[in-house]
Amino acid sequence: MGVLRRYFGYEHFRGFQREVIEHVLGGGDALVIMPTGGGKSLCFQIPSLLRPGVGVVISPLIALMQDQVGALRQNGIRAAFINSSLSGWEVMQVVNEAQSGALDLLYMAPERILLDSSLDLLSRIPVVLFAIDEAHCVSQWGHDFRPHYLGLNVLAERFPNVPRLALTATADPPTRSEIIARLKLEGARQFIAGFDRPNIRYRVTIKDNPKKQLQTFLEQEHRGDSGIVYCLSRARVDEMARWMVAQGFPALPYHAGLDNETRRRHQERFIFENGTIMVATVAFGMGIDKPDVRFVAHLDLPKSLEAYYQETGRAGRDGLHADAFLTYGLEDVVLLRQLIEGSQAEERIKKIEHRKLESMIGFCETSHCRRRVLLGYFGDNHPHSCNNCDTCLTPVTTWDGLVVAQKALSCVFRTGQRFGAVHLIDVLTGKANEKVLKFGHDKISTFGIGKELTTNEWRSVFRQLVAGNYLEVDLEGHGGLRLCEASRPVLRGEQPVFFRTDVILPKKARKGSKPANTERARSLASHTSQQEGLWEALRSMRLELAKEQNVPPYVIFHDATLHEIVAAMPTTLDELGRIHGVGTRKLKNHGERVLQIVSAYRS
Ligand code: ADP
Ligand code: ZN
Repeated sequence: MGVLRRYFGYEHFRGFQREVIEHVLGGGDALVIMPTGGGKSLCFQIPSLLRPGVGVVISPLIALMQDQVGALRQNGIRAAFINSSLSGWEVMQVVNEAQSGALDLLYMAPERILLDSSLDLLSRIPVVLFAIDEAHCVSQWGHDFRPHYLGLNVLAERFPNVPRLALTATADPPTRSEIIARLKLEGARQFIAGFDRPNIRYRVTIKDNPKKQLQTFLEQEHRGDSGIVYCLSRARVDEMARWMVAQGFPALPYHAGLDNETRRRHQERFIFENGTIMVATVAFGMGIDKPDVRFVAHLDLPKSLEAYYQETGRAGRDGLHADAFLTYGLEDVVLLRQLIEGSQAEERIKKIEHRKLESMIGFCETSHCRRRVLLGYFGDNHPHSCNNCDTCLTPVTTWDGLVVAQKALSCVFRTGQRFGAVHLIDVLTGKANEKVLKFGHDKISTFGIGKELTTNEWRSVFRQLVAGNYLEVDLEGHGGLRLCEASRPVLRGEQPVFFRTDVILPKKARKGSKPANTERARSLASHTSQQEGLWEALRSMRLELAKEQNVPPYVIFHDATLHEIVAAMPTTLDELGRIHGVGTRKLKNHGERVLQIVSAYRS
């Protein structure tokens, strides 16, 4: 379709964008579920451009609205928003534009659209469609619940002939049913995309020295990139951010303990500057539309695969290669199990939380394709290995660990079932240190029977025994290990036990393993120094333009677009116009400047 090319500079529709657009143009309602970065916005933007009248978009966050409207205007689309940040006079102006047919898209906050005056206004202008973005905000059980979303069913009553779309990335079946019921979308066609984010490379590294591991990862693979580092607590965030700054990384802390102004400033720098790293608790993320987040690192284990998927999903919205990096160790398993057990929640809730944590641990411990485990958890089949996760790229071997497991379990038993892994390993490897002597553990039968393994290998064994529930952690006390039901068949030799061979140190980025299999991503991996120079020059130009116009750099051009320019080295406006992400308006506004820069790098 010409509109896609002209306004957005894209060649093809993605996934079922085309089907949704045709369905809506035909007057139908739709529930659209696509993963983050899937391209939901085009589903309502294009019909609004094609039909006379205004597409009305309901969006929960003011910051998000301003971003989207800013980006649309850059593409020459007539968009505006009405929210509490506008003065009465500015609202009047927007209303006039809407009435006189000078607007294609109008963004509104839910509380605003529910006012009688707004509903009256909408009944006086031709509304092409209602798009309810982040539709999972109607769910009272979800963490993004917005009470005003519940009132949106009024749209069905007041505007029965206007197509309505509900869009979200949250796809579990209960939320889906809730959206349908609360928004009166019983007759809507459902468009549900798979969960896969093929450009994200999942990697779980065994925790050894997490700071160092992160540093190596960033220095080898993400120099100058923007990303998010998630930590479990505010204190850890503060400490980590300080440490990263001391190492020379442009890192900023973000958590609910910081005052509003600091948080706003940090978020703004993250969005507006190139290469900023946000160190954050889970409080950071909702409404972060930044497409060029190149990595999401977790230094602490998330509590569930839902949380992990959502947080890692903030990487690589632009479809270019991105990394999800997690460090994980026995201490995470112990700590999170303790947190659940020590919480005030009902037993029923604790059980659910334990089960969720188990799935998260299973993902970390798997020796199979991580993507397959992750998607399988959400009910998506991924029939083959993905070739873009650590276990696919560096296959994990497993080894028969029955005898070793028996040694470990008997050592737990002989020492009285109250010591942690560090002490047990000292006993097994025959270290007659002070603590071992104090308890007389140099005299027991398991002293020194495990010298065939190194301390690190034993740590891996204990972690896997705990993760696999062959050993229980004393959650009330000091986290000592004790036997449980599942230990018995192992001790009796009736239950085979296999351990994965951990890769402890972060491997150097492997030259042979291409990032995601897109043309653009490949060009990213193989820049010559001349291309590197052009890339940097284009980035500075973009930053300048962004500052002039007070918009985030990615609103001027996406990284993907700059990469394509570097690869194609266009000489004419016509050639430049064929690059993805260069629509008519951007060609006119920035085309000459881009060509000038490119010509300076042609040799
Ligand atoms: P979502 O709202 O589903 O998270 P967006 O609508 O913000 O995703 O789109 C994610 C990114 O993908 C945006 O940068 C958008 O410009 C880009 N995109 C969307 N559709 C296409 C397409 N058909 N071709 C290329 N890029 C696209
Ligand atoms: Zn894989």
